[in-house]
Formats: sequence, structure tokens, C-alpha cells
Amino acid sequence: MTNCLIVGGGIIGLSLAYELSRRGLSVTVAEQGAWGGQASSAAAGMLAPLKEFSQPGPLLDLGIESLRLYPEWAAELEAEAGRDVQLCIDGLLTVALTEEEAEQLRAKFTWQRESGYDVRWLTGAAIRDVEPLLTDRAIAAIHSPSEGHVNNRMLLQALVTACKRRGVTLLSGCVVTGFVAEGSRVVGVETTAGSLFADETIIASGAWAGIAMGWLGLSIPVLPVRGQIAAVDSAGIPLQTVIFGSTGYITPKRDGKIVLGATEDEAGFQREVTLEGLTGVLNGVMPYVPALSSAPFLEAWAGLRPATADGKPLLGPVPGWSGLSLAGGHFRNGILLSPITAKLMADYLEQGRTERLEPFLPERFTSVVSQGRKMG
Ligand SMILES: Cc1cc2nc3c(=O)[nH]c(=O)nc-3n(C[C@H](O)[C@H](O)[C@H](O)COP(=O)(O)OP(=O)(O)OC[C@H]3O[C@@H](n4cnc5c(N)ncnc54)[C@H](O)[C@@H]3O)c2cc1C
Repeated sequence: MTNCLIVGGGIIGLSLAYELSRRGLSVTVAEQGAWGGQASSAAAGMLAPLKEFSQPGPLLDLGIESLRLYPEWAAELEAEAGRDVQLCIDGLLTVALTEEEAEQLRAKFTWQRESGYDVRWLTGAAIRDVEPLLTDRAIAAIHSPSEGHVNNRMLLQALVTACKRRGVTLLSGCVVTGFVAEGSRVVGVETTAGSLFADETIIASGAWAGIAMGWLGLSIPVLPVRGQIAAVDSAGIPLQTVIFGSTGYITPKRDGKIVLGATEDEAGFQREVTLEGLTGVLNGVMPYVPALSSAPFLEAWAGLRPATADGKPLLGPVPGWSGLSLAGGHFRNGILLSPITAKLMADYLEQGRTERLEPFLPERFTSVVSQGRKMG
């Protein structure tokens, strides 16, 4: 039986572990901290490929396919874990407050409509029929009824439970520090808890994935992009739908919170919330729903999105090495892309199939920066 070792217990590592275990493979996950404790629990949980991707192409196709997988994937996971993940596919509004924004949105709507996507163009009062709490300054909006959101923290808990039930070995507090190789084959990793061996090692370490590539002397850059984000109490603010504007987004969750996001700032691996960041988030969302200004503040936090130079994830084998692959670089959309990433990576690991991964293969970036290799 193929033995798989996944480095990183975020949404990507855990989704892949769950998928591989469902296919009968033996799986171990090594996580340096807490399960999902980094970007995956910081996220807003939106499932919004039409909002997120600004042009047709393989990334949008991947996002749409993942969104389609979500209901069945989440239902099976809920049944297996005995936990709700609060999946809501109840639509999303992308809103314009100015003529200039409306023009840009209209252009996006046009190609989305021509491509056959489920989107509607709304103006004036029709926008507030969808979301009555939206400001009357909104002059136009794209409404996409098939997008939505999930409670990513509950999803992570469900994945951990399901992985345990499937017999996945979950090692938390286990820091991976280097690779173990025989020639050009990776056969495992060095960790703070000793060596771990596997037929296939998969790097799913989010914003830290580029560092692991550096251990092999490879340059596959992954840039941490901080997202600062906040939540208020939803009591008295019965929002119906997710709202996106040019300066922020508002996500009403089913757990009594409204999640408000988010900055995109580069601060290395620092995860602090700054006053400037928090002020920017709050000032960015209040123009869209004025009622938010009286909402009780609950909390603010931050996470590191794993960004790549071309905005596309890194999925598939690491060139020059056998037994090693990457599942990372999901930037703003790792929660959305987790079911499809798990499926396509499992197809690769089980059957060696890379056709579907073609646009996302790590080989598009690889260059050898040093001969220095960190190995046991
Ligand atoms: C503010 C914010 C809002 C977001 N909103 C959304 C959204 O609405 N929708 C959406 O789809 N996406 C969203 N995202 C993006 C999403 O969170 C990420 O794309 C996704 O979480 C990436 O998952 P991951 O598993 O690759 O990374 P992570 O969750 O960061 O997991 C990587 C794990 O690897 C571990 N690790 C790293 N190095 C090592 C090592 N050496 N040894 C062992 N373990 C290691 C880390 O501790 C970490 O737990 C948002 C992100 C942020 C920050």
C-alpha cells in the first residue's frame, strides 16, 4: 500500500489526507502547531470563484469545479465526522458605489454571462431586494446565486475527526526540518520528533512551502501575504448575503458572527493585527452596510495567505525529485479550492495522472539556486 506523508495540517493537507485515506492509502500528517492554526482558520470561508477570478481560464475553471464539488463533499464529510460545517450556498453580491466601479463590474458581468455563468445584473432598488441592509448608495451589482460560504473552522474540525476515524496518523507539534533522500528520491523528512519515512511526501505547508523547497536548493517562491480580518456580532443586523465592495467584504455566518475583511499586506511571517490594518478593514466595510457601525465588536485576527508569482496554485510533482510533490500556493482561495485540490492530487498520487494539473505544475517556476541540500 502506498504510504503518504503530508507536511502541513491546514485545509489543504487535511483535505488531501481525508481523500487519500478514503481511497485506502496509508497517510501521516505532520503539523508544526495546531491543526488548521494558520491561514486556514484565519479565512472568511467564502466560496466565490466568480468574484475572485478576474478572467476566464484554468484557475476559474478549477474554482468552479471545486464549488460544484462542495455540497456532496461537505455532506459526506459531515456524515462521516458527525459535525456540521455550515455550508451556505445562498448567493453573493459584488457591489458598485460609483459609475466607474459600475463600468468595471459591467464588463466582468458581460464575459461571465457570455460564458454561461449563473450571474444577474442588478441596479438601484433591485439590489436591495436581495440585501435590504445594503446602502442606498449602491448603484449596480453582480448577483451570483450559486456562490456562498462555509464555516472554515468547523470544516477543519470535521476534517480532523474524519481523518482520525479513517486511521490517518496525525502528528501535531511536529516541525519538519528537512528531507531524507536517497539519490534523487525523497524517502521522508527529518522532524523534531525524529525521521519519518514514506513512499510519497507532499508539501502542503502553506506560506512556508517555499522554505521547504529551499532545503532542496530549489527556488519555487511562495510569498506570505498577511490578511487582517475582524468579526462583529450579527444580533440586530440580519444580513441575507455576502457583500463584496472595492474596499472590503462582509460575510454573515451562521454562527452569529459577521466576518469583515480583509487587508492584503506584506509583513513577512508576522501575524499581528495592526491598528492601521484593523481601521482600514472597518472603514472599508461600513460604507456598504451602515448598520455595522453600531455592531458589537467581537475579535480581530490575521493569517498568512500563500501567494505565488502568477496567482495560480502549485500542484503536482517537484521537478528533479521523485517521491515529492507540492500542494500549495492557494493564496486567497484555499478554502474554495480544497476539494478539487484533494481530488486532483490524489489522482496524481494514486495513478500518476498529471493532465488536469498541467496549468498548475510547480515546474513552471523551478530554478536551482544552490547545490546545498538539507538532508538526514
Ligand atoms: C484573512 C484571510 C481571509 C481568507 N479568506 C478566504 C476565503 O474567504 N475563501 C478562501 O477560499 N480562502 C480564503 N483565504 C485563503 C485561505 O485561508 C488559504 O488559501 C488556505 O488556508 C491555505 O491553506 P494551506 O493548508 O495551504 O495553508 P495553512 O492553513 O497555512 O496550513 C499550512 C500548515 O503547514 C504548517 N507548517 C508549515 N511549515 C511546517 C513545517 N516545517 N513542519 C510542519 N508543519 C508546517 C503550518 O503550521 C500550517 O498549519 C483567506 C486567507 C486569509 C489570511
